[in-house]
Amino acid sequence: MKHLLITLALIALGCTTAHADKIKVRLYTNTTINSINISFDLGAYNLYVDDNRLLEDMVGQGRSVIIRPAGNKIHISVNETNYGTFDRLFLQATDTACILCLNPEGAKQRTYEGDLEITPLKSGSLLLLNLVEFETYIAGVVQSEIYGKQTDIFRIQAIISRTWALRNISKHRSDGYNFCDHVHCQAYLNRCIRPDIMLGAIQSSGETLVDSEGNLIETPFHSNSGGQTANSEDVWRTALPYLRSVTDTFSFRMRQSDWTKAIPLNRWLDYFARKHKIDTKNPALRDSLLNFTQDTRKVRLLGIPLTRIRSDFQLKSTFFSVTTDPQNPNNIIIHGHGYGHGVGLSQEGAIRMVGLGISYDSILRHYYTGAILHHDPTANRSYVENYVNQITRIIQEDKNKKTQTHSKQDDWLGRLFRLRDREERQEVYIEEQQDNEKDWQYEW
Ligand SMILES: [Zn+2]
Repeated sequence: MKHLLITLALIALGCTTAHADKIKVRLYTNTTINSINISFDLGAYNLYVDDNRLLEDMVGQGRSVIIRPAGNKIHISVNETNYGTFDRLFLQATDTACILCLNPEGAKQRTYEGDLEITPLKSGSLLLLNLVEFETYIAGVVQSEIYGKQTDIFRIQAIISRTWALRNISKHRSDGYNFCDHVHCQAYLNRCIRPDIMLGAIQSSGETLVDSEGNLIETPFHSNSGGQTANSEDVWRTALPYLRSVTDTFSFRMRQSDWTKAIPLNRWLDYFARKHKIDTKNPALRDSLLNFTQDTRKVRLLGIPLTRIRSDFQLKSTFFSVTTDPQNPNNIIIHGHGYGHGVGLSQEGAIRMVGLGISYDSILRHYYTGAILHHDPTANRSYVENYVNQITRIIQEDKNKKTQTHSKQDDWLGRLFRLRDREERQEVYIEEQQDNEKDWQYEW
């Protein structure tokens, strides 16, 4: 049912490719793209222009597509051939295992799977949209959003990123796509290239977080809670029953557990006097501003929301205390805990919990009070298990090898994509046949 709803939402968005369950993600959202060079790492693409007129077929390695804006159109050239100007470019992958390599002028190179659409923006730059399988997008998001070594942390991130994405599938509907690639939605800064991250994402196939009525929940996350998470209404407006403040000692002693920041005393007091009309000459009020402590999270300081103070002073979190600087009476020192808004899952707390051997579903329940882990009954479990076994074998084989040639990793990823694709077409999995096809000789 949920799958059907997503498909309908995607159709409503005007996705015109054969794969209805592809989503559209805007790439390089926060960058102005004035020219881009596209090359091909794996597979071949058909190059269409305007209303699906084929310009070149089987564009692959050795070809280089260069696009730049030309008035309200785009100019396209492929290697030495100058094709002229068009309204739209569409690069359609001819196989599941196709990888695009994007080199925009003045921005970092990135690689993506799936199709690519380029149109001119009114501003005179280029709009890049990646049409990609939903789960491929999720794996890319997981790689962009969290660090770690153990598979379960990637599984956890995949579940909350999938839940968020399904709940917010229409977020950029009025812009003509589903998500941007920035933290406004979720970071999607490359395709997933790490087998351990892909493993975590695949293991979580069909898993989402729902409330007692079966509705997808909001799944905010942050880097580190500092030892206690925040209530949703203390940061945003709405009180949600599953976003409750919980004690979170798992977030202690991690990269983002503690921070300090020195601020000039005058700047601190002037801010409250000018912006919030507080009489900083009043000894009691002044004392409150210079000796503010939080053993457990508070929401306000002299009636002012800590979220506002955090934003105005660009502090890592609202979970901080204030003291005067014993070394320098002209400064105050802010001692803070954690990084981020503090609502929902603490990523570093979860990393620690995974390290302690706590199960991924217990970790999710720790951060999302009363949430239920839902397994989509239509998800093909035999496919997931088969895929998981294969990728686990690859990781193990890799560990056992004394010398590795990492440059070949795309080859085996490509084979895995083909495997995934075959299973999605409901073909029967027969291990002997697969071996005969020499399709699983993953080499590094
Ligand atoms: Zn966005």
